[in-house]
Order: sequence, then structure tokens, then C-alpha cells
Amino acid sequence: MDLSELYSQVIKDHNLSRHNRHGLEGASVAVPGKNPSCGDEIELFLKVKDGVIQDASYTGEGCAISQASVSIMIDLVRGKTPEEAAELCRLFLAMIRHEPLSREETRRLEEAAALAGVSNMPARVKCATMPWHTLEAALAAARGA
Ligand SMILES: [Zn+2]
Repeated sequence: MDLSELYSQVIKDHNLSRHNRHGLEGASVAVPGKNPSCGDEIELFLKVKDGVIQDASYTGEGCAISQASVSIMIDLVRGKTPEEAAELCRLFLAMIRHEPLSREETRRLEEAAALAGVSNMPARVKCATMPWHTLEAALAAARGA
């Protein structure tokens, strides 16, 4: 299996499993995210308590890349502090912009690093980044909550 096949598999697994796709009881914030160029539309829920993202989920519809990206992102930030999640957003968006990341930074992105190839598909970049921009907005809203 070459790398691109592995990446496709990660995207497929997350798109099929949909284990993060549901509403969230007791959510601190619910923030909508939209990528009109593709028709991706989500609502992201975060439950922030005692300085930790205790849980997160999303509802909505979209293409395989947007759905995989939001699901991978939720797995990554669950249990992290809002500051750590903001830093992961920064790293992910830098990766998609082709900015060089250290091996350590790439490792911290875990499965999200599998979406690096999207940066070579300009039409799909917004599909991959929309959930992360939504997370930035949700973290900002959670700070004010
Ligand atoms: Zn899309």
C-alpha cells in the first residue's frame, strides 16, 4: 500500500464510521460552518469544562473530504485543552498552506496529517479546512461563554 492509498483509507474510514456525527447533550457552544463552493455544511459542538474539551461532535452534510476532516479533527481535540486545540488548528492550516512543519509537529497532527495531500488539490482545500476554521470560531465562542 503506498502513502496515497493509506491516506484514502483514513479518509474512507472516517467518512464511513461517522462515530462523531450526532448532536451533543450539554454542549457549551454550537457553531455553524459552511463551504458554499462544495455544499459542505456542518454544525460543530464543543463541551468545554474545567479547561478541557470534554467532548465534541458535529451534524451536517458534505463531501467525503469535509466529513473525514471534521471527524479526524474531533478525535484529535477531544480531551485536549482549548489552547492545545488552537495550536493544532494552526498546525493543520499551516500544513495545508504547504508551510514546512517539523517531524514533531506533523506527529502531533496524528491522523489529520493524512490530509496533507489535499493541499495539492486546490478545489478541495476549503473542504478540508472548513471544519478547522469552524473549530477556531467555536474556541473563540467558548472563551466568551
Ligand atoms: Zn467538500
